[in-house]
Amino acid sequence: MSFVLIMNLIDTHCHIYSPEFDADRSAMLSRAGDEGIIKMLMPAIDVSTHVQMLKLEKEFPQKCKSMMGLHPCSVKENFQEEMEVVEQYFNERSFVAVGETGLDFYWDLTYKKEQYEVFQRQIELALHYDIPIVIHSRNSIEECIELVSKNQNGNLKGVFHCFSGSVLQAKKIIDLDLYLGIGGVLTFKKSGLDAVIENLNLEKIILETDAPYLAPVPFRGKRNECSYLKYVVEKLADVKKMAIEEAALITTTNANELFKL
Ligand SMILES: [Zn+2]
Repeated sequence: MSFVLIMNLIDTHCHIYSPEFDADRSAMLSRAGDEGIIKMLMPAIDVSTHVQMLKLEKEFPQKCKSMMGLHPCSVKENFQEEMEVVEQYFNERSFVAVGETGLDFYWDLTYKKEQYEVFQRQIELALHYDIPIVIHSRNSIEECIELVSKNQNGNLKGVFHCFSGSVLQAKKIIDLDLYLGIGGVLTFKKSGLDAVIENLNLEKIILETDAPYLAPVPFRGKRNECSYLKYVVEKLADVKKMAIEEAALITTTNANELFKL
């Protein structure tokens, strides 16, 4: 006799409205369903993608949930207009989170000051609407932790998406009562993230793909998609020496709790 254990997973960060999926989006979504992905949370980028994101959510309202925000790499000279659009959307309806926001000091430092201003405004939106904030940090994790810590009045909730920092940084984030979003990087040889995760319990860990980016091993370098979340949960279970079903249950429960799904 054999049984099939039902495993539910939530991909808490995927850009599945991206043109990378235009050719096979429905097949991709059905592969995700086959792997037990019950929900997918979509981070907003900027006005060039809001419409496609909301359209996909409308098509699959139970499965695909939108966030709203302005990505730090999209903070340019028109950031005031972009933020007005974001705030207008929040006036009209509710979203699962504010994001993605944060600081990106890797690609371009031209709008560093504006990135801070926009991140701060989005933290205030999250507090105002009582929803989590989804933080992108690249070459800026300490700066992001600092801004979160200044704003943590006991009510700020959120996640450091695609976390790949040190044990100390992980502990600082957990102490601030925020979560760590763990994805394909965990499967990369030499990422060192496995050793970090070994030192943490799973209380504040949620899973994500960041599709179409950062595909896990064995698809590293290829287009990522939600069904590949299974490689992340497998690796997580391996690192924590627990059953895959247990790692899935804990991280899915965490995601449900954080995003009130
Ligand atoms: Zn993202």
